[in-house]
Amino acid sequence: MYVGTNLGIRPCSPAAKNLFDMGIVISLLNHKGGVGKTTSAINIGAGMVELGKKVLLIDLDPQANLTISLGIPRQRMTIYEALRGEGELTPYTHKPNMDVITSSLDLSGAELELINEAGREFILRELLAQVADDYDFVIIDCPPSLGLLTLNALTSSRYVVIPLQTEFLAVQGLTKIKQVIDKVRFRLNKQLDIAGVAATMFDNRRVLNREVVEIIQKHFGEKVFKTFIRENVALAEAPAQRKDIFEYSPKSSGATDYLELCEEIIERINSGAFQSPAAETAQEQEA
Ligand code: ATP
Ligand code: MG
Repeated sequence: MYVGTNLGIRPCSPAAKNLFDMGIVISLLNHKGGVGKTTSAINIGAGMVELGKKVLLIDLDPQANLTISLGIPRQRMTIYEALRGEGELTPYTHKPNMDVITSSLDLSGAELELINEAGREFILRELLAQVADDYDFVIIDCPPSLGLLTLNALTSSRYVVIPLQTEFLAVQGLTKIKQVIDKVRFRLNKQLDIAGVAATMFDNRRVLNREVVEIIQKHFGEKVFKTFIRENVALAEAPAQRKDIFEYSPKSSGATDYLELCEEIIERINSGAFQSPAAETAQEQEA
């Protein structure tokens, strides 16, 4: 069913569709630029495919780096048109078991255009409800900001993975991200959880890298993934060949690290480390 909006028509689905009923939606989030969000979105997605999962990648960044890095041509129906209510999400099949919702530069106008929309924080979630059942994992590449697009990602997600370059000021950035996630949990999406913090571009020889990891582990304890994504030139080269790391250099440390990270993510989700909100509610009622 479609409903009219002041921007056109939009699929009308229950915005409150339970996130547990859909494929597992994970947002790659960090408002700091250049920390490895897109690299992680592509290669966690590709790693999950290696592990036999069916994956949908969503490029939610007007820079369209994910779309460009995979060499996907301009689509008629990108995330921008879908958010404007011009149609449904239209997955592009990039390779077996990996579909992509592409982005384009037009998306840079979306935040302003949608500002007066009722329920503007839930537009992506409504759209996702139509397609997310078809996948094991939906991975959202967020833009380097905490605006409306990022809020849409967070209301649609069950988990957040925070890629973090282990540099000076990384911890301050993390505190801000945690505040935003707490607010979203409180007001918009009680089912949101931080799956973990992933150290990226890590070089064990750099004292600063090791020190920052220690600080983050002190602050975030178990939330820090045991797998660190090492600095690896193949990860930076792969997008120029329009390939993910498993296609470009399957024996690289980048491929090894991202596969390990995927296994850790799956293990963490399956371990029950994240209490289901249903269980939380039951406990609250008991108390
Ligand atoms: P933005 O905020 O602009 O969207 P981002 O957080 O998505 O940036 P990426 O584009 O993934 O960051 O990475 C920034 C740069 O670092 C890219 O050139 C990428 O190829 C490179 N890079 C990412 N991870 C690694 C790594 N582990 N080793 C070497 N280079 C890396
Ligand atoms: Mg990016």
